[in-house]
Amino acid sequence: MLRLTNNLTRQKEEFQPLEPGKVKMYVCGPTVYGLLHIGNGRTFMFWDVARRYLEHRGYEVMYVQNFTDIDDKIINRAAEEGISAADVAEKYTLAYFEDMDGLGLRRATHYPRATDHVEHMVAHIQGLVDKGLAYPVDGDVYYRVARFEGYGKLSGRKTEDNEAGARVDVDKRKEDASDFALWKAAKPGEPAWESPWGKGRPGWHIECSAMVRDLMGDTIDIHAGGVDLKFPHHENEIAQSEGLTEQPFVRFWMHTAFLNFELVKMSKSVGNIKTVRDMLQAFGAQALRIFFLQTHYSQELTFSEEAIKAAEAGWLKLRKTLARIEQGPEALGTGDDEVRALQAGLVEAFNTAMDDDFNTPAAIAQFFETGDALRRLRAKGASAVLVADVVARMRELADVVGLDLSAPDVADVELGDELTTGLLDTLVSIRAEAKATKNWALADKVRNDLKALGVQLVDQKDGSTSWEIIPRVLA
Ligand SMILES: [Zn+2]
Repeated sequence: MLRLTNNLTRQKEEFQPLEPGKVKMYVCGPTVYGLLHIGNGRTFMFWDVARRYLEHRGYEVMYVQNFTDIDDKIINRAAEEGISAADVAEKYTLAYFEDMDGLGLRRATHYPRATDHVEHMVAHIQGLVDKGLAYPVDGDVYYRVARFEGYGKLSGRKTEDNEAGARVDVDKRKEDASDFALWKAAKPGEPAWESPWGKGRPGWHIECSAMVRDLMGDTIDIHAGGVDLKFPHHENEIAQSEGLTEQPFVRFWMHTAFLNFELVKMSKSVGNIKTVRDMLQAFGAQALRIFFLQTHYSQELTFSEEAIKAAEAGWLKLRKTLARIEQGPEALGTGDDEVRALQAGLVEAFNTAMDDDFNTPAAIAQFFETGDALRRLRAKGASAVLVADVVARMRELADVVGLDLSAPDVADVELGDELTTGLLDTLVSIRAEAKATKNWALADKVRNDLKALGVQLVDQKDGSTSWEIIPRVLA
């Protein structure tokens, strides 16, 4: 039984979708004005994992993620780069897909772009105006927060300026400080669309309400995003959607916690920017994934290079262990019953962990425990064939959360192995001495023997020799 923490009720509840077998899930996507921040990368990776798990459990998942492609930040960036707002959005939408591909995320079912749905937003706003929940002023339209009874039910907050120290400049034209913009009157030179209130563009919050309704209907099962979106963005989405439809908008509200960078909260405004692109380059997708998934999504996570390296090394060690024990000489079969018991309990153990609010750290811990048990049973004399069956099943389950448990390449095994590096360097220097003393037979022997082991020597122009490991799978 899948149980999820619902931030609307602040409780862990049994999850059943509205329509049996089908899950409607929406995740607030990026504003495409720059390269994606690694904190957002964690969020998007996690919800992709949640979606994969729901599919593994047999649900058909409609997974929608929007692009905010019109916004002040995009307009400002367009001015900086000397290109149009549409070109900025296009450029960073493409960059977003590159980064998501780099992280190994699956594509969403739909990627609505705000600018393709302006007519739905205008209709939504008009509906709110008709119901007295919104009012136009000088070409802008504001939501009348005081008229929506449930305002604050998700976040426990009603206004932006009740945070300590924060002072918001109150627009005198608004009836109340907490009223927020649904439509913004056009400013000279900015992209604008026709509306009953004159030319302008939609506010950020209305985008999600209108696109969800257009693509998914009045009520969806899961709405997720980073915790920084809970207020005001998600609170405003509720007011806009439920204000209009008078139906529950979202059944489960879920949020990923902050990724911290040392002591500084990682958000774009801090300036301590670390992009997904930088991180992929520095650590690789699998290392980031194992690092992220070893912490529960609802827990804040502090970024540390050491922690990523340690997580990656631990996972690589498990992959090496599994690759070693699934092959080798056949044994007597001592311990085979225990291996069969592990096999029988494997899927249930994984599902039990993930059913508990997508507990990825517990699911990953199961892989390590099972790997350890298999190693001991194999040493005791368990059959290689049976062990290989369990390992194959472990790989399938790891793949559910996007983790690779396959036998590592030789290159992966040897990288960072100081002894191997030292020995190879020694052989290279022996060959150099052999060449210097015209002992061609020995020089060739070193080269050919290493090549047979999968190591290629490369003679450089300056007379030195480097070596590289030819990638191949452990056979
Ligand atoms: Zn949103």
